[in-house]
Amino acid sequence: MAEAEVGDEQRGEDPTVRELEETVASLTGNEAAVFLPSGTMCNIVALFVQCQPGDEVILHGDSHVGYSENAGPAVHSRVSLADVPGERGIFDGDAVRAAIQPVGRQKARSRLVMVENTNARGGGAVWSRAALADVCDAAAESGLATHMDGARLMNAAVATGEPCERLCKGFDSVFVDLSKGLGCPMGAVLAGSEGLVEEARWAKHLFGGALRQAGIVAAAGVHALRHHVDRLAEDHERAARLAGELAGVPGVSIAQPTIDTNIVLFDVGATALAPEVFVERALGHGVRFLHFHGSTMRAVTHLGIPDDGITRAIDAVRDVVRDH
Ligand SMILES: *Cc1c(COP(=O)(O)O)cnc(C)c1O
Repeated sequence: MAEAEVGDEQRGEDPTVRELEETVASLTGNEAAVFLPSGTMCNIVALFVQCQPGDEVILHGDSHVGYSENAGPAVHSRVSLADVPGERGIFDGDAVRAAIQPVGRQKARSRLVMVENTNARGGGAVWSRAALADVCDAAAESGLATHMDGARLMNAAVATGEPCERLCKGFDSVFVDLSKGLGCPMGAVLAGSEGLVEEARWAKHLFGGALRQAGIVAAAGVHALRHHVDRLAEDHERAARLAGELAGVPGVSIAQPTIDTNIVLFDVGATALAPEVFVERALGHGVRFLHFHGSTMRAVTHLGIPDDGITRAIDAVRDVVRDH
């Protein structure tokens, strides 16, 4: 990062940003890509350039866009959201067909379908290629646009063994977050056709996200995509080990059927510890868990968590529960 070649990114003159954008475009099988400060801004821009006010976006209720991005779709794009059902954030083409609004003066205009791969709230659940194709087929039948929130797309690619490009097939836009398991300090990259990305660059400026010497952070992204993708498999193994051992702690149960990637949801209700107390005491042992909802906790493995970090996490949970 310190040695990155830089330029004025607003003018498209930062060579390191351009290298990162070309890398993500080719990785996802797209013509072009644009570097943005955050994954949230990728979702904002993707909806903004593909929707009109009064349109409706079809997505699963357990989508980051729906529960963790404030009123972004309403404020920035003036669209409504239509939730579809499905296990762990994954749905099928028939769910899309059922959610499409009939054409009429009383109806919002169904415009775009989006999926989240992996689905975070579903515990890092991975979409199969067949499930993605089913949704894209349903969207295409009705001329709907498609967007993939691929904050953890690289985890999905590693977990399925599918090339990333194949997982992106049929999607008009897709973004990859650099600041999750890939370990960069910030940034995300939105990919699509030349035309879509040109619109996205316009929207990036509109929202104040165009940068100057962004090559400093883009260099981390280039490095991460070169060196930190295959190693995501280690995060998945560590998450599985964590889940296996947590399940053996009295009062703790795993709150998802399988550990597919790097997220572990576990329930501490039966320990009789209040969720806030559990989080605070674990933090006292140097381990941070997210209180997700109800008595469910979330643990995430990533570049910064080595094997002994997992051991520490398990010991911390055992101690907290025993001391109670
Ligand atoms: C983190 C995350 C985002 C947003 O990314 P930021 O870089 O934190 O803005 C979007 N979608 C999902 C599924 C995420 O996990």
